[in-house]
Amino acid sequence: VSDIIHKFRDVQERISRAAEKAGRSVGEITLVAISKTFPGRAVEEAIAAGLCRFGENRVQEAELKINQLGRCPGIEWHLVGHLQTNKAKKAAELFDCIHSVDSLKLANKLGQACVELGKTLPVLLEVKTSEEQSKGGADPGAIQTIVEGIRAVEGLRLEGLMTVPPYFEDPERARPYFSALRQLRNSIVSEYPGCLGKGHLSMGMSHDFEVAIDEGATIIRVGTALFGERQYD
Ligand SMILES: *Cc1c(COP(=O)(O)O)cnc(C)c1O
Repeated sequence: VSDIIHKFRDVQERISRAAEKAGRSVGEITLVAISKTFPGRAVEEAIAAGLCRFGENRVQEAELKINQLGRCPGIEWHLVGHLQTNKAKKAAELFDCIHSVDSLKLANKLGQACVELGKTLPVLLEVKTSEEQSKGGADPGAIQTIVEGIRAVEGLRLEGLMTVPPYFEDPERARPYFSALRQLRNSIVSEYPGCLGKGHLSMGMSHDFEVAIDEGATIIRVGTALFGERQYD
C-alpha cells in the first residue's frame, strides 16, 4: 500500500479537526497537493489515493509532468510559484488556476493568452504580507489598484487572494499574516462587492494549515505532509 494513502488520511484528519475547532465545514476547504520536485509517478499514486488538485511552482516542470501523465478528466493543475510574463502564454495553456498573479502587467498577458485560447482562467492575487525579500506577491497597498485593473481583463476570473508567510517553527506565529490576508479580502469585497468572486483565501502549508484554516483559509497548499520531504539537487 502506497504511503500517500496514509499521509492523505492524516492530512484529512488534520483538516477535519481544524475545521471543527474553527466552527467551519470541511466542505469549505479545498486541498491542493503540491507536487513540485516529485515525479509524475508520485502524482499518479496520489490520484489513485483520491487527490485531484496538484500544485507546481515552475511552468517547465509542470509541463513535463502534465505531458507525461496526459490530461486526466477531473484533475486540476494549479500554479503556485512566481510567474514571469514571458511564460504567461504557456502557463495559461497548462494551468486550471494560477495563485501567483502579482501585477496588472502579468494579468494582462495571461488574459490575452486566455482570450486566444478561448478559455476563462481562475486566478488569485498573491499578496506580500511580510517584509521577507524572498517572498513574492504584490504590496498590500497596490492590491486595490490591481483588483480594479483585473476587473477589466478579459479571459481571467479573479477569485481571491493568496499569501506565503515567512517560515516559523511555531505555526502560531504565522497567524497575523493569515489574518491580514483575510482582513484585506474583507475590505476589498466591501468596497467592490463581487470583485473577488468567491473571495478565496489560498493560505496554509504543511506545518501551518490548521492556523490558516482557523483564520479562514478556503484553499490550503500542502506538499511535504502528503509527499514527504523534498530533495533538491
Ligand atoms: C512548496 C509550496 C507549498 C507547499 O509547502 P509544504 O511546506 O511542503 O506543504 C505551498 N505553497 C507554495 C507557494 C509552495 O511553493
